[in-house]
Amino acid sequence: MRQRDGIAIEQSPDQLEEIQRASERDLAISNIDRGSRQLRDARAALERIRDGSFGVCQECEEEIHPKRLVAIPWASLCIHCQESLDLREAMPTDSTLREAA
Ligand SMILES: [Zn+2]
Repeated sequence: MRQRDGIAIEQSPDQLEEIQRASERDLAISNIDRGSRQLRDARAALERIRDGSFGVCQECEEEIHPKRLVAIPWASLCIHCQESLDLREAMPTDSTLREAA
């Protein structure tokens, strides 16, 4: 077992290459994540078509703008709810703030 974590990293070309490979691997994994999320969203959209709630915001129950549905057919939130969700996700949560304090 080679120990790599916790040791000061010397900047050698080999190690830089290794770091680059590791981040490429991470990126590939996050791409897979994104892909499966999209698949899940698409499946959920099909469910909503079946139960008749397609095109209705899951948060405020307003109609999702048709233009938005054309751009993102699996959108489950109207643009306003999506924007506030994005904002919430981009912001540190209350517990993170408490931990930092
Ligand atoms: Zn909404």
